[in-house]
Amino acid sequence: MSDPQTYRFHDINRLTAEEVLKRLETAGGGLTADEALRRLAECGPNVLSAPERYVFLQRLVRHFTHFLAVLLWIAAGLSFAADFLRPGEGMATLGWAILGVIVINAAFAFYQEYKAERAVHALHRMLPDTAWVSRGGQSVEVPRSEIVPGDLLLLEEGEREPADARLIEATGMRVDNSALTGESKPKRRTADPADDGHWLDMPNLVFAGTTILSGHGRAVVFAAGMRTEFGKIARLTATVEEGLSPLQREIVAVTRVVAAISLAMGAAFFAIGLWSGLGFWISAIFGIGIIVANVPEGLLPTVTLSLAMASQQMAKRKALVKHLPSVETLGCTTVICTDKTGTLTENRMKVDRFYADRLVIEAREGCFFTAGRLVPNTDAERWRPLFDALLHCHNAKRVRRPDGRSTMTGDPTEVALLEFAIEHGLAHPPPLRRMGELAFDADRKRMSTLHWSEGRLIAFTKGAPESLVPLCARLRLHGEGIPMSSDERARILAQSRTFAEQAYRVLAVAMREVAHQPEHIEVETIENDLTFLGLVAMMDPPHREVPEAVATCRRAGVRTIMITGDHPLTALAVARKIGLVPQQAPRPSRGRSPAADFVPVIEGSHLDGMSEEHLRRLLTPSRSGEPDPVFARMAPRHKMRIVSTLKEMGETVAVTGDGVNDAPALKSASIGIAMGIAGTDVAKETADIVLLDDNFATIVSAIEEGRAVYDNIRKFTTYILSSNVPEIVPFLGYGFLGWPLALTIPQVLAVDLGTDMIPALGLGTERPHADVMQRPPRPKTERLLNRPLLLRAYLFLGLIEAAIAMGAFFLYLETHGWTWGTPLDWASPLYREATSVTLCAIVVTQVANVLACRSDRRSVFTLGRFGNPLILTGIAFELTMLLLLIYTPLGHRLFGTSGLPLWIFGPLALGALALLAAEETRKAIANRFAGGRWNPVGRAAGGP
Ligand code: ATP
Repeated sequence: MSDPQTYRFHDINRLTAEEVLKRLETAGGGLTADEALRRLAECGPNVLSAPERYVFLQRLVRHFTHFLAVLLWIAAGLSFAADFLRPGEGMATLGWAILGVIVINAAFAFYQEYKAERAVHALHRMLPDTAWVSRGGQSVEVPRSEIVPGDLLLLEEGEREPADARLIEATGMRVDNSALTGESKPKRRTADPADDGHWLDMPNLVFAGTTILSGHGRAVVFAAGMRTEFGKIARLTATVEEGLSPLQREIVAVTRVVAAISLAMGAAFFAIGLWSGLGFWISAIFGIGIIVANVPEGLLPTVTLSLAMASQQMAKRKALVKHLPSVETLGCTTVICTDKTGTLTENRMKVDRFYADRLVIEAREGCFFTAGRLVPNTDAERWRPLFDALLHCHNAKRVRRPDGRSTMTGDPTEVALLEFAIEHGLAHPPPLRRMGELAFDADRKRMSTLHWSEGRLIAFTKGAPESLVPLCARLRLHGEGIPMSSDERARILAQSRTFAEQAYRVLAVAMREVAHQPEHIEVETIENDLTFLGLVAMMDPPHREVPEAVATCRRAGVRTIMITGDHPLTALAVARKIGLVPQQAPRPSRGRSPAADFVPVIEGSHLDGMSEEHLRRLLTPSRSGEPDPVFARMAPRHKMRIVSTLKEMGETVAVTGDGVNDAPALKSASIGIAMGIAGTDVAKETADIVLLDDNFATIVSAIEEGRAVYDNIRKFTTYILSSNVPEIVPFLGYGFLGWPLALTIPQVLAVDLGTDMIPALGLGTERPHADVMQRPPRPKTERLLNRPLLLRAYLFLGLIEAAIAMGAFFLYLETHGWTWGTPLDWASPLYREATSVTLCAIVVTQVANVLACRSDRRSVFTLGRFGNPLILTGIAFELTMLLLLIYTPLGHRLFGTSGLPLWIFGPLALGALALLAAEETRKAIANRFAGGRWNPVGRAAGGP
C-alpha cells in the first residue's frame, strides 16, 4: 500500500468479500490500531479541505461600498470639493472626519461579522462527529477524520457514511444517495459482487455524505477525504453562503426605508437652505447632516452579532443552533411537540419487573421476588427461554470506550433488556447463529430475529404487547407450552395495562420453533403462531428538570404536546409525573374519540380515522384550562400530520425527533430539534437545533434565550434611534427657526459611530430577564420596529434628550454673553464650546438612556446594577471617548470641539438623572394602567 492513489479501486464492486479484505490489506476484524495510525499518517485525515476563498477581501470591500457607505463617500467628496472651492472654512477637516468614520464603521462592522461567523463555526465544531469501526476485532468509536482506507465500518440505520466503502455484509440496508445524486428515492444495498450499473448506483457501494435509511452492515473503506465522490463535488459547493434571516432582512429593509426618508429630508433641507439664501455649501452640509444623523448605521452588524452571541449562550445551555434564523424563530415558539423517551425521560431504562407464569416477578439486587417472597433459583429456571430471547433478540453491541472499558451501545430499550438478561445469568444459551432479522418498525412496533441452534431454527420476537400478543397461539406456563385461550390473552393485556399505568414501558416477548430448513424460510413470515414467554416492564424516569420546564412553558404560553410511540397509559402516567396533565385528568369536552374518554389520550389508530376538522378541534388551545391531549402509539407519519395541522393553524411549532423516520416532521416543523446523544445523523442533519443533552428542559432554555435576544435587539434599536432625535433637532432648529447650529456633522458622527457603539452592543448581550418566560410568545407577524418602540424612542426618550441637549446649548451661550438673535461666528471659541456642550449633553444622557433601555417595563433598579459587564464597559468607553473628544487637540481638530470646565458635567448629570426619572415614571404608569395587558403571568397562565 505505498501510493495512496492505489486505494481507489475501480473494480472493487466485482470482488467477493474475501477479495475486498485482501485487496485493502485488512482483516475480518478490521485494521489494527497501529496500522490505522500508519495509514492516517500516509493518506492524511478524512476531511474535506475547503477550497481557497477570496471571501475575506470581498466582505471587507462590501463594508466600504454598501448604501450608507456610499452616502458617506458622497458627503466626504462634497466636503473636499467645498474646501477646494472655498478654502479656509474647515470643510476639508469635515471630509477627513467623514472618511475616518467610513473606515471605523467598516472595521467595526467587519469585526462584528467576523466574530459572529467564528461563533457559528465554533458551534458547528461542537457537534460530535464520530463513526463506528472495527479495529483489531473490537468495535470502537473514532472521529470521522481518523477513518482510513481499509477501515471496517460498522454501519447502522440513520448514520451518515464517513467515507466511500464497499459492503461486505448488509441486512435490510437501504440508503439515501440524494446528497450525491440528487435523487431521494431509497436504494437497496447488498454485499454481493455486482458489476452492472453506474458507479454511484452500484448496489454494493456506499458513499461518504449519503445516509443509511434502514438496516445495518459492515463495509471496507476504499476512499477517504477529498478522494471520495463527495469530496470531488465539495470543491464546487463549499462556497455557498447562508442567506439573511428574516430579522436581518427586516433590519436591512428598515435601514433602507430610514435612509430613503433621510435622503428625502436631506434633499428638502438642501433646497430650503438654498431658498433661504444660505448658499450651496452650507445647504449641502445640512442635507448631509440630516442624512448622517438619521441612518441607523450600526444596526445590521450589531443584530447579526447579537444573534450569534445568543446562539453561543444557547450552546452553553446545551442547545446547538445550526442556523441563525432559528434563534429568532425559537422566541416565537407557541407549541413544542415532544417525544417522550429520552427527551422527557432520561432514556436510562432498567427492567424492574416482569410477568411470566401468571405471576408478577420483581427483580431486585440480582434476586427475584413474587408477592414479597424470594423465588428459589430452581423455580427461576422455568423462565430461561424468556431470558434467551432477551439475550438474542436485539441489535445492541458491546464496544470499547476510549478509556478501555467495554459497554453496550444501541437502542436503550434493547440495552436494558440485554443487561437484565446478563445480570440474572439465567441465559446459558447453546451457541446460536443468527440467520436473519425482521427489523423493528414503528408501525409494527415489534422485531424478530431468527437463529440456528443445534439443528433447530428458533425465532424470537419482542414488541408492544397489543401488537404481539394477538400473534401468539400458545403460551409457556410452568415450563410447558399450552394453547392461548382468549381469557389468557385478556389477562396478559390487563397486566400490561397495569404496568403501563405505573409508568412502565412494557414489551411482550415470544418465540417460535420453525420447522423449515434455514434456506427455505422467509424471514417475513415468522411472526405468527408464536409462543408467549412473558411481559417485561422497564422504568425510565423523567429528567429531573422536566416538571419545572413544563411549568415554565405553561407560564410562558408555550404548549407542550407529547407525541410518543409508547403505550397510552405509560404516556399518560409519565405526563402526570411531569405535570403535563393534572394528577386527576378532567373529563373530556372537546369531542375526543370515544376510546379516549376520560383520558386526554389519542392513539395512532384513532388519528388514522380522524377528520382534519376533528384534529384541529383537538389541537385548538382550550380556554377553560383543559390540558392538551397526549398522543400515544404514534408512528412518524402521525407526528408529521399533527405538526402540519398545527402549522396550518398558525402555530410556531418546535418538534423533537431522533430517528430516520422523524426527518420529514423535523423538516416541516418551524424548528426541528434533534437529539444529540440518541439522535441519528439523519435527524441531526435535518434539524435546525441539536440538543447536546437530549433534555426537554434545554428546549425551554433555548426558547428563553431566543426571546431574550429579540428583546435585546429591540433594546439597542431603541437606544440607537433615540439619540437620533437630539442629533436632528439642531439641524431642524437651524433650518426652520434660525437657531445657531447646536451640533456639527462630525459631532453627529462621533455619537453615532463612536460613543454609541459599545453600549449598544452591551444591550445586545443582556441576559434574559426574569419576566421573559412569564409572557405569551411574540406573534410571528410582529414587527421589530413596532409603534410603541418608535414612539418611545423618538417621541419620549429622544425628545427628552433633545430638550436637555438644546437647553444646555442655549444656557451655555446665554451665560457666556450671547443674546438671542445675534449671529454666532462658527469659528469663534464660544461656538465651539457651546457645540461641545451639546455633544456632552447627548453622550451623558445616552449613559442614562442605556440604563433605561435595559427594559421597557421593569425599573432599572430591579435589574441588578452589575448584571451586564458589557454595558458598564460600554459606559466607561463612551465617557472616555467623550473626554478624548473634548480635551485632546486631535479631538478639537477633527470634531470642532473645545475644552470645557469640568463643572459642566454636574448639570448634565442632573439632566441625565431627569431622563432616568422620566422613564421610571413612564414605566410605573405603563405597568399600572396597562395592568391587564402587562400582567403577563395572568395572561399566559391559561393552562391547567
Ligand atoms: P418516543 O416516540 O416517545 O421516543 P418510543 O421510543 O416508545 O417513544 P417507539 O420507539 O416508536 O417509541 O416504540 C414504540 C413501541 O414499540 C414501544 O412502546 C415498545 O413497545 C416497542 N418497541 C420499542 N423499541 C423496541 C425494540 N427495540 N424492539 C421491539 N419493540 C420495541
